[in-house]
Amino acid sequence: MSRGVKGAAIGIDLGTTYSVAAVWFQGKNRVEIIPNEQGNKITPSCVAFDDTELFVGEGAKNQITRNPSNTVFDVKRLIGSRFGDSRVQKDMESWPFKIIEGPAEKPTVVVEFKGEKRELAPEALSSMVLMKIKESAEEFIGTKVSDAVITVPAYFNDKQREATKEASTKAGFNVIRLINEPTAAAIAYGLDNMADKKWYKIDKNKNVLVFDLGGGTFDVSLLTVGKKGVVVKAVGGDTHLGGEDFDKTLVDYCIDKFKKQHGEVDIRGNPRALGRLKVACEKAKRDLSSTTITRIEIDCLYGGIDFSIKISRAKFEELNLTYFEKCIQLVEKCLIDGKMKKEMVDDVVVVGGSTRIPKVQRMVEEFFDGKKLCKSMNGDEAVASGAAILASRLSGNNGKIQDIVLIDVTPLSLGIEVKNMEGENGFMKVIIPRNTSIPTSKVEMFVSNENSTRAKIAVYQGESDRVKGNTLLSEFNLSGLTLGPNGTSKIKVVFDVDVNGILCVSAEEISTGQRKTITIAKT
Ligand code: ADP
Ligand code: MG
Repeated sequence: MSRGVKGAAIGIDLGTTYSVAAVWFQGKNRVEIIPNEQGNKITPSCVAFDDTELFVGEGAKNQITRNPSNTVFDVKRLIGSRFGDSRVQKDMESWPFKIIEGPAEKPTVVVEFKGEKRELAPEALSSMVLMKIKESAEEFIGTKVSDAVITVPAYFNDKQREATKEASTKAGFNVIRLINEPTAAAIAYGLDNMADKKWYKIDKNKNVLVFDLGGGTFDVSLLTVGKKGVVVKAVGGDTHLGGEDFDKTLVDYCIDKFKKQHGEVDIRGNPRALGRLKVACEKAKRDLSSTTITRIEIDCLYGGIDFSIKISRAKFEELNLTYFEKCIQLVEKCLIDGKMKKEMVDDVVVVGGSTRIPKVQRMVEEFFDGKKLCKSMNGDEAVASGAAILASRLSGNNGKIQDIVLIDVTPLSLGIEVKNMEGENGFMKVIIPRNTSIPTSKVEMFVSNENSTRAKIAVYQGESDRVKGNTLLSEFNLSGLTLGPNGTSKIKVVFDVDVNGILCVSAEEISTGQRKTITIAKT
């Protein structure tokens, strides 16, 4: 709905390492990136606490080496996950801040703020970053801002999406849409490639592959961008693959080197040393995108001992090759899922800070038989820009691009637990297969267990044929079932996925009409 205020709906790319916000100015007929208080276009997704103050963004990142155990980053890797998740456990090893298991198995961050212990859920931490963005946006646009399109990795599951939405609401935003990051990049690409920057001038459909390698996540999307808008064919990715992992391999390498040089000392137990090493390694990694050799030097790293090593680009590439190869494998899988040969891809669009790594660019180009990558868009800004264009369109403020059609897909299969032929539990019956266009609704009939008046519906997301390998989204019971002559009853299960990619499940016993509905979100 038009709120009568130009530019009041914004787009936000809430990244693992950096967040970016943008707004479409109708008068100027273009997108502008919203600068933060320091005047920069990207804001570290980082929050810190000390005896007197709360720091968000650059202020937080700048004091990390002084106050490592109370400086929280990478929250996007925690949001919507369980504490026991093996990936959370693995990430925890290298984080200088403390995490415990909170209510509902949530990984909860423990910090000291104004002399007191505070336990904070990932949603609360993310909302602090979002609040800061809201302030900057209001300052920049000069009006109140509440409507926002928020981006999420295409490969985020239902829980991660719902938690992101909750964080946004907590920050005071009205989430008009959650959109997949590569889809947002494709919207920006669509506009960028049009004569006069007018969407409706497109005359030919283009197949576009978006390769988004950021700090925390890797996303790949195969889309058709054309006169009608953006149609997603398939998505793929890994929510734990990105620059943070490359930093970590460098950190591990340095810890080993330090051990070799100075005997059995383990820096890992010391948050300050770990924090300083991480900052130095991230910088070295960036250097290696433009030079072939660099040094990592830290005074008094541990026990008064200085640390200094040389590291080459070749070594960095060798340490991370498996990660880079994983990206290429996911591209291959996405093409297969989208039923497209790589020769049919017109443009390969790279976004995300980690696509500056020369080896990554080379491997993608080689995979596409030497095709030049499309780098015409700013890789840090494309996602937020696309989100801003959509926000403007959804809030009715944008005459020029009113009619973009946007068709996205579900990244992961959705289904329920069933028995196999032998009557063993634990098998996944897919109801909505991955890469189904959304919104979508599917109905499935089930027969309850013999002579039981209760039925448990357990909803899972993932690609394994055993539920054990998938994510449990929710479970609920139907009770007081009316049994038919053969001792069973019929249950109708409906799966609805909305435009945000969020699932709602309802189950109904046919004879009595007993009905239970759950939005996975709300449980
Ligand atoms: P996200 O969206 O996950 O927050 P970004 O797209 O902002 O991530 O990318 C941030 C990541 O990109 C960080 O891991 C950062 O170290 C990395 N990065 C930024 N510039 C470079 C560079 N020149 N070379 C290698 N990595 C880089
Ligand atoms: Mg990103």
